[in-house]
Amino acid sequence: MSRSAAPQTDWTPDQPIIALKDVRKSFGHLEVLKGIDLHVMKGEVICIIGPSGSGKSTLIRTINGLTPVTAGSVKVEGQEVHDDKLDKLALRRKIGIVFQQYNLFPHRTVLQNVMMAPVLVLHENKREVEERARSLLAKVQLSGKEDAYPAQLSGGQQQRVAIARSLCMRPDVMLFDEVTAALDPEMVKEVLVTIKELAAEGMTCVLVTHEMGFAREVCDRVYFTDAGLIVESGPPKQVFGDPQDARTKEFLSKVL
Ligand code: ADP
Ligand code: MG
Repeated sequence: MSRSAAPQTDWTPDQPIIALKDVRKSFGHLEVLKGIDLHVMKGEVICIIGPSGSGKSTLIRTINGLTPVTAGSVKVEGQEVHDDKLDKLALRRKIGIVFQQYNLFPHRTVLQNVMMAPVLVLHENKREVEERARSLLAKVQLSGKEDAYPAQLSGGQQQRVAIARSLCMRPDVMLFDEVTAALDPEMVKEVLVTIKELAAEGMTCVLVTHEMGFAREVCDRVYFTDAGLIVESGPPKQVFGDPQDARTKEFLSKVL
């Protein structure tokens, strides 16, 4: 699987695929991340939970370089993400991210939306990309919607297009930032099912979510953030069943 754009590192799959070390981020005088350490192994699914404003989105965005860090190190497959010399294209291909707002191109069909980045950004063969896009749309249960426009789809369907679009870049890691938060309750499940299947296939996933049931069922580990710090982490059974930190206890008492 040699990819020409991939940077050369001595990373091997027995090392963390994502490694954050003492990551700090300030916006002006506001310190939003105060020293985050986080390791994710290949194929692991981790959830980040915590109160609004605790830095979850900032944290997840440092993993693919969307938000520059003030200090510390973020490595993905051994490659320092916040390295000015890094090939940003290779990084973007390797780490998919899906947001609460799916931001599909309204004047492009579903199929065109999914095909766009590999064709226009990576200059891949159009026929091959189309084949892949169609099979990804089938995978997210959207066969038959290839020629629809985003406005003709429900929120849940649009979010699944956004996931397929991200997967079409063949990422090694997927980041999800509250992808179900804007959806009507009946559409939350269909999106979570898609992510669950992805996780079952061995995709490395980092999720920020308020879906505690999902976190409990699907995640290998849960990280609880508060005021820019990870105050507690562990298997979901432990964090949800027997939280140790007072802040985790308080948060869970409100959301469970
Ligand atoms: P969460 O996702 O946990 O709700 P965020 O990471 O979005 O938290 O935000 C953490 C804090 O950082 C908040 O106080 C927010 O207002 C602030 N913040 C986030 N992004 C920016 C930005 N681009 N500029 C200034 N402040 C920001
Ligand atoms: Mg957020």
